[in-house]
Amino acid sequence: MAKYVQDFAEGDKDQKDLLGGKGANLAEMTRLGLPVPPGFTITTTACRSYMQTGLVPAELRVEVTMALRRLEDAVGRQLGDPYDPLLVSVRSGAKFSMPGMMETVLNIGLNDASVKGLAAISEDERFAWDSYRRLIQMFGKTVLDIDGDIFAAALDEKKGARGVVLDTELTADDLHELVDEFKGIILAESGQPFPQHPREQLDMAIVAVFDSWNTERARLYRRKERIPNDLGTAVNVCTMVFGNLGETSGTGVAFTRDPASGKPGQYGDYLVNAQGEDVVAGIRNTLSLADMKQVDPQSYADLMAAMRRLETHYRDLCDVEFTVERGKLWMLQTRVGKRTAPAAFRIACALVDEHLITMDEALVRVTGAQLSQLMFPRFDTTDSSRVLLTKAMAASPGAAVGAAVFDSVEAQRRAAAGEDVVLVRRETNPDDLGGMIASVGILTARGGKTSHAAVVARGMGRTCVVGAENVDVDPVARAFTVGDITVEEGQVISIDGSTGEVFLGAVRVVPSPATTYLEHGLDAALTQADDDQDTRELVRAVDRILTHADHARRLRVEANADTAADAARARSLGAQGVGLCRTEHMFLGDRRVLIERVILAKTDAERQLALDALLPLQRADFAALLAEMDGLPTTIRLIDPPLHEFLPDYTDLSVKVALEKERGALDPHDEELLAAVKRMHEANPMLGLRGVRLGLVIPGLFALQIRAICEAAAARLAAGGSPRPEIMVPLVGSVQELHLVRDEALRIMADVAAESGAELDIPVGCMIELPRAALTAGRIADAAQFFSFGTNDLTQTTWGFSRDDVEGAFFAEYTENGVLAVSPFETIDTRGVGRLVSIAVAEGRAARPGMPMGVCGEHGGDPESIRFFHNVGLDYVSCSPFRVPVARLEAGRAAI
Ligand code: ADP
Ligand code: MG
Ligand code: MG
Repeated sequence: MAKYVQDFAEGDKDQKDLLGGKGANLAEMTRLGLPVPPGFTITTTACRSYMQTGLVPAELRVEVTMALRRLEDAVGRQLGDPYDPLLVSVRSGAKFSMPGMMETVLNIGLNDASVKGLAAISEDERFAWDSYRRLIQMFGKTVLDIDGDIFAAALDEKKGARGVVLDTELTADDLHELVDEFKGIILAESGQPFPQHPREQLDMAIVAVFDSWNTERARLYRRKERIPNDLGTAVNVCTMVFGNLGETSGTGVAFTRDPASGKPGQYGDYLVNAQGEDVVAGIRNTLSLADMKQVDPQSYADLMAAMRRLETHYRDLCDVEFTVERGKLWMLQTRVGKRTAPAAFRIACALVDEHLITMDEALVRVTGAQLSQLMFPRFDTTDSSRVLLTKAMAASPGAAVGAAVFDSVEAQRRAAAGEDVVLVRRETNPDDLGGMIASVGILTARGGKTSHAAVVARGMGRTCVVGAENVDVDPVARAFTVGDITVEEGQVISIDGSTGEVFLGAVRVVPSPATTYLEHGLDAALTQADDDQDTRELVRAVDRILTHADHARRLRVEANADTAADAARARSLGAQGVGLCRTEHMFLGDRRVLIERVILAKTDAERQLALDALLPLQRADFAALLAEMDGLPTTIRLIDPPLHEFLPDYTDLSVKVALEKERGALDPHDEELLAAVKRMHEANPMLGLRGVRLGLVIPGLFALQIRAICEAAAARLAAGGSPRPEIMVPLVGSVQELHLVRDEALRIMADVAAESGAELDIPVGCMIELPRAALTAGRIADAAQFFSFGTNDLTQTTWGFSRDDVEGAFFAEYTENGVLAVSPFETIDTRGVGRLVSIAVAEGRAARPGMPMGVCGEHGGDPESIRFFHNVGLDYVSCSPFRVPVARLEAGRAAI
């Protein structure tokens, strides 16, 4: 049993871990009987072994020999044979597609002898020399690490010398000369001649593909996409077929549906007489599939049949790479294709209507991240101040407004300084990745919907417009011109990735149709869409899928809302309650003085006076909130942060007092304040006097808040409403703390009930946000009627990471060297923090069966974390209002 190599004919699509995505799908297409040039895959196991030891495993060499011989026998030709050579491509292919990230070398097996054999067999001298020069060029660049521009410059020079524009206009003799020049470049740049031995070429190319896994840009891409660094890549060795064999040959890429809008119907680009990456690189302008039908109806029909077959088989949008060699179609790659967010929703629903998938499957095919992309604002089409510069191809939707920049470095520099930038390039290549990540939008002058810029932008959800042919980009002058308008670096432009429009200046933005739908319902969204069919289809699809998610999910979705206005927005977006109302925000602004008086009070009486002044204000806050959330649970957290957060900054105040002293005009209040600030200074405020500790140390503080809640509820009841407040105590570590607060709460509740005649039964619960609370949850449940997991503090205290400091300090290193795959503040660390949550859920519910439990940390809006909270048995997640739709969708997906 071979360990490191597997023929295409042996595998299938479920072996992505072993064969990589490309290899697994090549195997699947082979299995389906589609015309795939034969070949074999070197597994990721081999790559991992190479990465660990730095050596190519000896067994690999043997297994490659065996596989190569099987291949040679099958096709009846031998690698690099001088008379009738077998040529192969060596192609990288990892488990997760990394477009343009890794290396491929075509035409392996050509050398000074076999190029003549190829010319004779194909009866096409020009083709043979063109293939050979491509091999040397790609080999030099990817295997020997020689700057690709040197080859490109030599090619340009040759074209210049011959007075031609296109590669295809060079003759066999020109190309022969070019081969000699390229070989000279190889010798000069690498110190070695271009290897003539076919097997040596093959082995070197395989190692180069292994090595390409660890290039800087590949690592950057993986970090961005959260792909682990240790998977390794597979290597596919595939019999060459030739799209550069004259006018009856060509190469192309196609999608079974439009990946930008999701509209039904195949979509693609075709390039006659071309090989490999010519299409993607945007070297010449491509033909559409409709044009291809005109020039080669038979190949077109075969391609359509193959694509239909694939879509039926994968039951999803597929993209393919294909080559036509003298009228014969070959399939070189397929995969379930990347798509924009709108396309994802539309395609999922279309597939349901075509009875290819169920509604449950449709729900799983879209993500919360895609839904949040749909919620991005759009350009206002009624903004009459818009100056349209040009209209090109819409490659990835969105409305991006930013300063034009012309290279990756500048994009990253300005973005780091907080500026929004739009990266403008003739075309992008993998070296632009850093700049693309840093930009809000990307505009290119060349290339189609399948160009590098388009594919990468779609993958990242960046707004992108491509193929703006009348945009003349001058990266040296750092400017572009359209007609007689010149846009310099730093000037603001606006690009619309849904229409392909490019505007001068900043265009006004309006809510997206999906946002209108989410806030005001389907009818409002359809009215806004007017007769724009694509938009109508899209909002209908979002409605169907989100409605299904709401049926499917078990988790309730609540919102973190501090004000009545936030609560109203959350409710319109589908929140089923407020899971966290932070009351500290109610002490800011004008009320700061009052809380200052509470802190500075020298006697109980003084403090009580200050608290009494706060009571009506707090009551009014809660009354407004409860009115907005009438009938829905409204969880109000008692004051949590260290009190000095309400006092002036220590340094600022010291300076102020010092200045006052100098001028002999010392304000006694300032002096008193300074003393208090000094007294209250803590080395670790987040671990200091905050949360429940405040309530127990500062008499009357919690009582004020509890009374305000009770009175607001009583008033609302009297007015005929159905208030459902819940009192939540933060930072509890011991059940005793909670008992003390709870007893006080019950007393106040009874008092207010007696005063008002209202019947008050307000649940008192606590946050679980300290490891000790989680570990003693069974005891805490004695005093708590509900739990809400505060996963931010729980993460902070479990890891001992200061949330406010780590991001800049060392998280970059930690993700780079693999200690963290993702920040635990973004996605819950299921092994550690998550374990504490499960312990608390189990022990809490054992002590108090059916006890309601939810989460109100940042993680409540994070897709992966939501899945965990579903699995661990929580009742609800609470997140910021604008994340509510995303959480609804993800909670639905988690339940499938
Ligand atoms: P990528 O992952 O960047 O698409 P590929 O390995 O798919 O890299 O190959 C790059 C280009 O070369 C593609 O256009 C592909 O279709 C073409 N190609 C790869 N192998 C062959 C082959 N055996 N015959 C002809 N063209 C090939
Ligand atoms: Mg590639
Ligand atoms: Mg490919």
